[in-house]
Amino acid sequence: MKEVRTRFAPSPTGFMHIGGVRTALYAYLIAKQNNGKFILRIEDTDQQRYVEGAIEVIYSTLRDLGLIWDEGPDIGGPYAPYIQSERKNNYIEYAEKLVNEGKAYYCFCDEKRLDELKAQAEQLKVPYKYDGHCRNLSLEEARAKIKNGEKYVIRFKMPREGITTFNDYVYGEVTVDNAELEDLIMIKSDGMATYNFANIIDDHSMAISHVVRGNEYVSSTPKYILIYKALGWDVPEFVHLPIIKKAVYSDKKLSKRDGDATVEALKAKGYLNEAIINMLALTGWSPGDERELFTLNELVKIFDPRKISKGNAIFDVNKLNWINSQYMKKLSDEEIYELTIPHLKQTYNVNDKDIEWLKAIVKLYRNQISYGQEIVTVALLFFKEDIVLDDECVEFMKQDGVVKVIDIFSKEIAKIDNWTIDNIAKVINNTKEITGIGGKLLYMSIRIKVTGQMHGPELPNTIQLLGKDLVLNRLLK
Ligand code: GLU
Repeated sequence: MKEVRTRFAPSPTGFMHIGGVRTALYAYLIAKQNNGKFILRIEDTDQQRYVEGAIEVIYSTLRDLGLIWDEGPDIGGPYAPYIQSERKNNYIEYAEKLVNEGKAYYCFCDEKRLDELKAQAEQLKVPYKYDGHCRNLSLEEARAKIKNGEKYVIRFKMPREGITTFNDYVYGEVTVDNAELEDLIMIKSDGMATYNFANIIDDHSMAISHVVRGNEYVSSTPKYILIYKALGWDVPEFVHLPIIKKAVYSDKKLSKRDGDATVEALKAKGYLNEAIINMLALTGWSPGDERELFTLNELVKIFDPRKISKGNAIFDVNKLNWINSQYMKKLSDEEIYELTIPHLKQTYNVNDKDIEWLKAIVKLYRNQISYGQEIVTVALLFFKEDIVLDDECVEFMKQDGVVKVIDIFSKEIAKIDNWTIDNIAKVINNTKEITGIGGKLLYMSIRIKVTGQMHGPELPNTIQLLGKDLVLNRLLK
């Protein structure tokens, strides 16, 4: 059987959109579960979109996630180079071959003429399609024009009869009438290949067996297939992936402008690589049972591209939070500090704070947060002098007995010399005995008064970490 070879072919735009990374993951899984090769190819033919340093972002994001490529621009391989701009001559060669065989043609239609065609189509309310004006120019005529310095593109001559069919892993059988297909541009007037042409030449030249990419290419795939055939090449398998949308409450396509839509943004918020991979695996695919937690290696074993869902894939932040919290449970305290303390340092002025104090706060909350940056919100009460009570807290504090509890507790706690958790717990008990008030009313009154919240970690531990000064300040307000 032919070796399974998949590729991830990002354009270096400066960030890694989660849709792109999910494509990389699925391509990786398909290769690895067949003992095949996963190839990284950089598609930089659109020089206007090129962003300095973007290739490094691609490398480091994939590497951190464990999606290690077997061939690529940095490590080379049998089909090098793996950067499109370095393969330029290759494309022109094949384009000219097709021209010589009468399967493609030079087109001299300028911007102005094409704009007129587009305007006409708009008026008639029909989709614009190039009308094939230069299709029948003889090669001699065309060469003479080129000699004259006229600008041109090279277009593929789509057959005007027959149908083209392919079987997509996700979308099933797709069939189109060839007559509907536009003579697509293979080589632009600047001599660069279009994506439409380069993808074919590269995928064939790199012996790609399965093309895994976003579903925006489904409708162009019949055109690509006709070009494969015109060149006498085998057509690869196609796995087109549905668009990722944000969870149910929004039907928007998840775009690069969405804060969470890049892997960098997720990592900056303190999500773990393992959780991101796990989440992306489940964004558009499921194993068909209840399991939800998988390592990359487990995914290699159980991923089934035939089970990728056709419907839009939902990226649900709540689900990501749950998955991330499951992975966070496995981290040591030291690893949790690394994930969270930088966020505290970024947000609050902690210059005069003891690192052990910061660690103790994190430890107090480690089971309540689901990603690193969340520490900033849950631990706010340790860094802000004043607390503001929400309506629910205000209501609670109106109850009979609250004033008494706070009064006694304040007096008792002021007496503590040795500010330990034990001593604080004793004061809470004394308050109970003196006031005759216990249970929720006792605990909640104190908690709301000193933390501003109705819920939180162990009360004596929280009070101890807040420190005597801050606690007394809040009690006496
Ligand atoms: N460079 C294309 C993109 O970024 C890749 C499409 C493909 O995988 O063929 O969308």
